[in-house]
Amino acid sequence: MILLCALAALVQGAPFEPPVSIRVVGAARTAMVAVVRLEGQPAVRADELLAPLGGRLSRIDEGRWTLALPGLTLDIRDGLPFAGTVNGAVPLGAAPRWVAGVLVLPLSLVTELMPRLGGFRYDAARAELVGAGVVARAASEPSGTVFARASRVAPAAATVPTAEAPTPGPRATPRRPTGGKAARSPGDRRIVVVDAGHGGPDRGMHGPIGGRSTIYEKDITLAVATRLADALRDRGVDVIMTRTTDTLIALSDRGRIANRMRGDLFLSVHVNAANPHWRDPGTARGFETYFLAEAKTEDDRRVERMENEAVRFETSADAPKNDPLAFIINDMAQNEHLRESSDLAATIQRSLGTVHPGPSRGVKQAGFRVLVTAYMPAVLIEIGFGTNPAEAAWMSDEAKQQLIAARIAGAAVEYLARYERRVGTTP
Ligand SMILES: [Zn+2]
Repeated sequence: MILLCALAALVQGAPFEPPVSIRVVGAARTAMVAVVRLEGQPAVRADELLAPLGGRLSRIDEGRWTLALPGLTLDIRDGLPFAGTVNGAVPLGAAPRWVAGVLVLPLSLVTELMPRLGGFRYDAARAELVGAGVVARAASEPSGTVFARASRVAPAAATVPTAEAPTPGPRATPRRPTGGKAARSPGDRRIVVVDAGHGGPDRGMHGPIGGRSTIYEKDITLAVATRLADALRDRGVDVIMTRTTDTLIALSDRGRIANRMRGDLFLSVHVNAANPHWRDPGTARGFETYFLAEAKTEDDRRVERMENEAVRFETSADAPKNDPLAFIINDMAQNEHLRESSDLAATIQRSLGTVHPGPSRGVKQAGFRVLVTAYMPAVLIEIGFGTNPAEAAWMSDEAKQQLIAARIAGAAVEYLARYERRVGTTP
């Protein structure tokens, strides 16, 4: 537990001390908004936040609202720690609540979501939120000043995917589909989040069937993920690992870590296991790459069940109060990330095929919890069958782990280059 907290502090930077109030600089006016506590989490009142920004809150239904901000529209539900956007659902960190006639929103909506999706700028040191399109000097004006509607800040704000109001200029299309940095200049380094499957009490699969020595999935995934991180850094990509030690990270937190660190890609590394009811299960071999969608075949559902099993190792405190899986998967069905993720999966699958001794089992889709909370192209790679003696030995070999890591890293970099050409963030 201590380890877990230490790691959480590590990936989130310095311990987070919420401000007493934040200064909101909007096109309408500037106002101080008090930071309140909601179930122990920092939060703000929706009405106080919206007024200076010229935003509007409309009730759609019981416990459901549309939050219309300049350049960003969110679907908010009472008690659900996700917000709906035109690009799918995004995690909020904590659930909004309707308290005594007032909608209270988690502070992370202001500090993370609005900057990432709506082109707002949040300065943590000054505890100041500046509205999208409000000129920079507005930030230094004294509180209470009334500002004229300012011109948009380009091109930073223009590259941000907006919920409605399409942003002018050629850079507005195509929309940037990843959950990465809201605005990226050509020189910016990409961030890949590397997730070593399982860990701590959750050992994952073990094998091989009929083999003398036993391998555990959590050890193989950590070894490969660590090499993958190095291989990516060697290729000029910044890397965040969800775990670097033998520890348990809740499935939902893995994606949240990725979002917090503004990852561009999420790669989850796993080891496959044959169904013991198969005829001669020890002979099953090969590698496959999944992206998030509803499982299509019984075999895909088997892998989905197996990887989602880790939830039972998580304490109730780790688990989300409302299970958003069904809601999210529905939302993700129209999500642009699906195309991006399936393209990424195909690239990885092709690349691994050049070194893997087993057959390619192809690109597949399933509803992995670990991918649900990652708001960016995300894939889960089953690097081989740990139940097969030959593949278990192959994956345990350090030189082979290096080879697997290099091929996945190569594929990720190839995908990123292709993606940048497509959206034109490189000159
Ligand atoms: Zn696994």
